[in-house]
Amino acid sequence: MRTSVVVPVYNEEGNLPELLRRLSAVMDATGEPYELVFIDDGSRDGSLAILERAAAERPDRVRVLELARNFGQHQAILAAFESVTGDAVVTLDADLQNPPEEIPKLLAKIREGYDVVGGVRQNRQDAFARRLASAIVNRVTVAITRMRITDFGCMLRAYSRDVVEEINRCDESSTFIPALAQSFARRPTEIPVVHAPRRHGESAYSLYRLVRLNFDLMTGFSLVPLQVFGLFGMAVAAGGIGFALFLFVRRLVHGAEAEGVFTLFAILFTLVGIAMAGLGLVGEYVGRIYQQVRGRPRFRVRRVYGLGAEGSGSRLATHGSRRDA
Ligand code: UDP
Ligand code: MG
Repeated sequence: MRTSVVVPVYNEEGNLPELLRRLSAVMDATGEPYELVFIDDGSRDGSLAILERAAAERPDRVRVLELARNFGQHQAILAAFESVTGDAVVTLDADLQNPPEEIPKLLAKIREGYDVVGGVRQNRQDAFARRLASAIVNRVTVAITRMRITDFGCMLRAYSRDVVEEINRCDESSTFIPALAQSFARRPTEIPVVHAPRRHGESAYSLYRLVRLNFDLMTGFSLVPLQVFGLFGMAVAAGGIGFALFLFVRRLVHGAEAEGVFTLFAILFTLVGIAMAGLGLVGEYVGRIYQQVRGRPRFRVRRVYGLGAEGSGSRLATHGSRRDA
């Protein structure tokens, strides 16, 4: 069985030497053919230079895709998916938070016939606030999308070739790979994987980027948020009508009353706030439709180094859009 290991890299110069060493050691030990595909996602540090050197040293094993700018982790992985040749495809973070030593466990599951193998991070080594946010997001996402994924954020995952090809056929401008893969899985499974603290550099995800990513996840895989909003609006309207009737009867019984102005304000602000949030939610969907309709390439590969670089370079898709194919 041939394996492709896909690693998105954004400013990871501190982690790459150790990653390259450990990853090669693990994959060599399997005794089976493999390729390592690194995507330099517009790094501003020395990451690309380190990767170029790795590709020059082992052009039979290492391919490096240099993206034209920073497109984000998921787009970077999609760029790599278009050129992978393995029967099994493993995704892995470059920061060594996902130990490469766990890969054989994932591959064993693929060999057993599972087509999507998700990692579930044990003893997650991230800040408490981050873990809490993930826990909430996981719950909400499971409720909304009905997908059985325990740990949406864990990128240490393995996919069968079929699933990767299904993903390549998709042409969505924003996406979330574990969820997309899950939607194509016939036999998904999950296994616990070790999680390590980040050693060098810092997480590329600010709170804002995490929120954006989670919107991608929720809007990309479900219309439930919109439907819930519609239902909620109806419930509020029904409550309002009920309240008006109540006030009308009170008026007949007690005559005119004009107290509780501030209560009224509180209710008003709450409802206006909810209405604005709803508008924003609709905007999230509309914005994504707009992006999709414009159909700009999702990513652009500037250069390919190492395995598959010469000659076949033009065969490698260089755009993220099927329209260009
Ligand atoms: N990454 C990327 N492009 C980005 C942000 C991150 O390719 O725009 C890569 C990063 O180099 C790492 C992985 O995605 O290999 C996960 O990123 P990070 O460790 O910052 O995320 P966290 O572990 O905090 O979720
Ligand atoms: Mg990380």
